[in-house]
Amino acid sequence: MLSKRAEALKPSPTLAISAKEKALKAKGLDIAGFGAGEPDFDTPEHIKQAAIDAINKNFTRYTPASGMDELKDAVIEKFKRDNNLTYKREEIIISCGGKHALFNLFEALFQENDEVLVPSPYWVSYPPMIELTGAKPVIIETDEKEDYQVTPQLLKRHINKNTKAIILNYPSNPVGSVYYKENLEAIGKIAVENNLYIISDEIYEKITYDEYVHTSIASFDNAFKERTIICHGVSKTYAMTGWRIGFAAGPGHIIKAMANIQSQSTSNPTSVSQMAAIAALNGPQDFIPMMVREFKNRKDYLVKELLTIEGVTCYNPRGAFYVFPNFNSIIGKRYKDRVIDSSTSWTEVLLEDFHTAVVPGIEFGKEGYIRLSFATSMEVIKKGVERIKQAVNELK
Ligand code: PMP
Ligand code: GLU
Repeated sequence: MLSKRAEALKPSPTLAISAKEKALKAKGLDIAGFGAGEPDFDTPEHIKQAAIDAINKNFTRYTPASGMDELKDAVIEKFKRDNNLTYKREEIIISCGGKHALFNLFEALFQENDEVLVPSPYWVSYPPMIELTGAKPVIIETDEKEDYQVTPQLLKRHINKNTKAIILNYPSNPVGSVYYKENLEAIGKIAVENNLYIISDEIYEKITYDEYVHTSIASFDNAFKERTIICHGVSKTYAMTGWRIGFAAGPGHIIKAMANIQSQSTSNPTSVSQMAAIAALNGPQDFIPMMVREFKNRKDYLVKELLTIEGVTCYNPRGAFYVFPNFNSIIGKRYKDRVIDSSTSWTEVLLEDFHTAVVPGIEFGKEGYIRLSFATSMEVIKKGVERIKQAVNELK
């Protein structure tokens, strides 16, 4: 018999959909894939070369479980350079992806009776990861009119004596909201007053559009920094999703607890991937603006096209590489003999009948919406949008 924890757990829907998409493509079907949230660019040459050199030099043994000092130093330098934040080595951990850093952190902080505030729409993995620890995710519904941000009033209403932490993700997956400085400052103050940890998932930091820029909540005030754990990684910034290198920065005693969990579970992240991550963080950064420019062209096109569909609204993302259009106007309609009664049945029709892979909004906490990743080629985007329009036209 499986454990209750395992019985209750379902696979990550984003990863499940991208696996389905790949399986259908392998069968020869022409699928327009908007599923996976991973840059379609190749990892830059100098980063790959660093890993090749590491293999050739037989850098293939265990490293310290919490990561190599040289990579921790590169991460420290990154926080200094980009966020004006100063950390010591014992305040940094290198993990097997940003997801693993979050997992270790939740394991280190949460237990039964704890409540963890999760603003919705949220990234699919936060609630299940919280539940695995025995703690309870408490969803805070944010509003498009507030640019999908937690306002101070909203936050105060959800705090009680069991509240342990709030998760902030900005730029956010799935809507691409970038927090206003005023909101971050107000949230930080409330966190200090109520003794809450702030989990700041900044993995999309470098991917922002137009006039929007990312500011870390930890950089406002030392009192905020002392209760903030930043979770981050190289996956999105350097097109390195498969290399599995993430990192976290925060108070030394929390990082130490995370390192203990890591040393009893995965041990170190892959040695050659760590070498690649050093090259990524310390090397030339010109790849990033090139990638962001391309994402912006795709975003602008996609938002414009989605808005031409009758009844559809779509928030214009300010960061990350997802759009999250509202398709509530088609819920209740029929495709052939099938009633579209949810975002899930809509995505099934799109995949099965129109060969277009998207993720149901309900997985991010919002029924009637769907998520499209535009980390895919313009050609696929154009084809996929046409298919979605055709699908809508064929609904009765
Ligand atoms: N946080 C968010 C919001 C994400 O979308 C992702 C994407 N998978 C991650 C964390 C973790 O990414 P990774 O494990 O590849 O570093
Ligand atoms: N974060 C990406 C996404 O949301 C990658 C898949 C995952 O880890 O969930 O699609």
